[in-house]
Amino acid sequence: MSYVIEGETGDWELVIGLEVHAQVISKSKLFSGAATDFGAEPNTQVSLVDAAMPGMLPVINEYCIEQGVRTGLGLKAKINLTSVFARKNYFYADLPQGYQISQYEYPIVGEGEVILDMPDGSTRTVGIERLHLEQDAGKSLHDQHPSKSFIDLNRSGVALMEIVSKPDMRSPEEAAAYITKLRSILRYLGSCDGNMAEGSMRCDVNVSVRKAGEPYRTRAEIKNVNSIRFVHQAIEYEARRQVDLYEEGGQVVQETRLFDANKGETRSMRSKEHAHDYRYFPDPDLLPLNLTQDYVDAIKATLPELPDEKKERFIRDYHLSAYDAGLLVADQATADFFESVAKGRDPKMACNWVMGDFSAAMNRLGRTIDNPPVSAANLGGLIDLIADDTISGRLAKEVFELMVETGKAPAVIVDEKGLRQVTDTGAIEASIDAVLAANGDKVEQYRSGKDKLFGFFVGQVMKATGGKANPALVNEILKKKLG
Ligand code: MN
Repeated sequence: MSYVIEGETGDWELVIGLEVHAQVISKSKLFSGAATDFGAEPNTQVSLVDAAMPGMLPVINEYCIEQGVRTGLGLKAKINLTSVFARKNYFYADLPQGYQISQYEYPIVGEGEVILDMPDGSTRTVGIERLHLEQDAGKSLHDQHPSKSFIDLNRSGVALMEIVSKPDMRSPEEAAAYITKLRSILRYLGSCDGNMAEGSMRCDVNVSVRKAGEPYRTRAEIKNVNSIRFVHQAIEYEARRQVDLYEEGGQVVQETRLFDANKGETRSMRSKEHAHDYRYFPDPDLLPLNLTQDYVDAIKATLPELPDEKKERFIRDYHLSAYDAGLLVADQATADFFESVAKGRDPKMACNWVMGDFSAAMNRLGRTIDNPPVSAANLGGLIDLIADDTISGRLAKEVFELMVETGKAPAVIVDEKGLRQVTDTGAIEASIDAVLAANGDKVEQYRSGKDKLFGFFVGQVMKATGGKANPALVNEILKKKLG
């Protein structure tokens, strides 16, 4: 299923590449010992290095390097044993150094890949061009005073990983799936918390359009889009704008654009700088970064099982569909929860409960998997009661809601409410006889060919037994009596 933008001159193809700035999880900054806590009072986490006082020297934070390598390995990427920090020169009020220390020609991580899990269960591979480490800038605050702007340098010097994809995406859905998957991998690795609302993951979207088979055309870059929904909207708007422009005889210019979430449109911010505008050069305060293969291998040995491998294992060991497995592994805690529920039980049933009623309750109550509405042990217990015919699947839904409400174990609720399923054939037979006797006319109609009435009889018996009759037994005995 391919995505096209319809134009007057025919169909256009969308070409998308993403640059994600992911804030490294580390207690201190990339080149200083200042803290990195989110939401601290302005300018309380600023060392002399971060404030760019004359003569201060940056010192590499080894933990940030480790996080960069770990992330590269998680992206199945090539780790470059030698990388070089370079100065990217530009002026900005919240950049006291007058340059950002980044990596340019020699990034720490080279080519890798991210496998997208599409909503229809299929997968697509998107190439990673590179990952480099760089420091964040400070923040300008324009809304604190009627005539002044303030500068907060808490963020200045915080370590970022800039992860650049190849222009391999062809629809807004793929771009959304890419961010979702990348975020999931970073969270598994513990290298970035992926919190887009707090700005710890920021997305620049490169968009161009072309006719099928053409080389790439000029792209526009949409800066700092801060939610997956906005990425989706920004791409759709920008693609339409470019197609309309070409079809009116215009040209797309290479530029940086901003997405206005209120208006749902992108607008020009500045013409795009080229690399040579930044006068990159190796930072003379920092030696080239040399890693050993042993160092990289030692980090590799500590990697957790990542979403793709976990998904494969779930498909193989639990016989789940690719779609179900993809949903479960997207979040590590959810995958763990599922595994404790599924242990020794029917995995498909465990999956249905976790992704179904359990997820719905979690969303409804605003709970998270770390603070679940029902414990894994109790959810497992409920599945056991269905499996051994103590309650029917229909009654289980009621029991589940009571579990959410009261926090009680399922067996306790079943006993208290007298919900134990009736599997006593004698009792079921008696209630079937009563239903058939009271509906003689319908029995006649059924016997003369109106098969559909069978459901009616089942319904009446279930009603008479308060939903507690074992449905399989009801069906079986009904068939016998009506036959
Ligand atoms: Mn950058």
